[in-house]
Amino acid sequence: MKEYKKDDLLTVSITDMDAEGQGIGKDDGYTIFVKDALVGDEVKVKIMKAKKNFAFARLEEVVTPSPYRVAPVCEHHRRCGGCQVQCLSYRAQLDFKQNKVRNNLIRIGGLEAEKVDACMEPIIGMEEPFHYRNKAQFPVGTDKEGNPVAGFYAQRTHAIIPNTDCVLGVSENKEILELILSYMKETGIPAYDETSGKGVVRHILIRKGFASGELMVCLVINRDSFKGEDELAKRLMKIPGMASVTVSINKERTNVIMGTQIRLLAGKPTITDTLGGISFEISPLSFYQVNPVQTVKLYGKAVEYAGLTGKESVWDLYCGIGTISLFMAGNAGKVYGVEIIPEAIEDARRNAERNGFANTEFFVGKAEEVLPEFYENAAAQGKEDMLHPDVIVVDPPRKGCDEACLDTMLKMQPERIVYVSCDSATLARDLKVLCGGGYELKKVCCVDMFGHTMHVETVCLLVPPLRQKCLFQ
Ligand code: SAH
Repeated sequence: MKEYKKDDLLTVSITDMDAEGQGIGKDDGYTIFVKDALVGDEVKVKIMKAKKNFAFARLEEVVTPSPYRVAPVCEHHRRCGGCQVQCLSYRAQLDFKQNKVRNNLIRIGGLEAEKVDACMEPIIGMEEPFHYRNKAQFPVGTDKEGNPVAGFYAQRTHAIIPNTDCVLGVSENKEILELILSYMKETGIPAYDETSGKGVVRHILIRKGFASGELMVCLVINRDSFKGEDELAKRLMKIPGMASVTVSINKERTNVIMGTQIRLLAGKPTITDTLGGISFEISPLSFYQVNPVQTVKLYGKAVEYAGLTGKESVWDLYCGIGTISLFMAGNAGKVYGVEIIPEAIEDARRNAERNGFANTEFFVGKAEEVLPEFYENAAAQGKEDMLHPDVIVVDPPRKGCDEACLDTMLKMQPERIVYVSCDSATLARDLKVLCGGGYELKKVCCVDMFGHTMHVETVCLLVPPLRQKCLFQ
């Protein structure tokens, strides 16, 4: 093979993209990663770092643009890590994501291409792929002239690029940020400085309930309080929709954004929002899905795949604040949720109560411990109906399900397994185990929750083979 070294100039065709949205091209079998190059581009690149089998290269020139290239909407998109593929047409983004999931199911999952194609529904994209996020956290700093600024960190750094009007966020962000920044300037409240650990305002968290219209602002500060905080809160409360102004105290020298303590300045401590007719109470620290419009579609698909008739027993593993559990509860006999974070389970219980779902039960713990324990107890007590739930839903983090969890799911032999995944590689790995254990993939649907990034959500339906179904009837 040819020798490659730093500063080599090459022309390559970009045939794929990686998880960070970098273009991938090949030169004589040698793999080259190019940031800002898109699938379909022919590009001139300069090698920055050459390894034995691959290199990272800088985009010098787009020789022939990809037919899917579009003009970027945001001038900052190359420096900001937020929108990795803003220059790829939204349709091409969706096709790329669908294809990525398909390939992973075949390559990693070991499924037949014909089978996957027969199961896959068309990807559900967004009608409006901008302004879809209901939450934003802006770091605050000081520019060269000494003025407070808010924006985002330039990719892989902690340098703040001022931008109060991110195209993924709500339009209210700009007014809120500008009000806070001009108040800081007027009264001399300094922004926090990471290097010295001095200054006051570190981050500004803004959340909006898309259904309720309620707005929440939380200022993360480096001390217990600051002079003029009440006046600032009063001014913020004049913004239409503003319902909650709080501060979060974070005096640690850390990258963690939020402190653990929250203090109310004006309005109420939480805002509410509804998702699919279910109401949720959200504090500055609560987990809450950031794209509510697509969340309803994703979890709606999960409910459809669960095929509920009103009497089923359902497990919702990795349940977070119980969003899926509550989406299912209205049409199920009993829903059990399992989640590792105790605060999320507190939210889940509270949300179940406020929506009047008495048929839910939540457990704090690891899915791979809670489920086997429950199964063994039911077996020891001869509770046949509890051994075999009708539906098991899983929505694990990127690393997928633990093997002990998958093993127990196979033992429990539910009529349906609904797998919601944010990483199709681990999804495919886990499907291999479930299909190896006799389950059959019936349906797959991708939902785009994070337009202009490489992330995609996938929901799958698996059913047990007929033979085992008969065995338990
Ligand atoms: N469906 C949820 C979100 C799921 S995200 C919602 O809408 O709220 C994945 C969740 O799995 C996270 O809340 C995370 O805290 C939890 N988690 C991670 N590892 C876990 C484990 N081993 N057992 C149970 N839950 C886990």
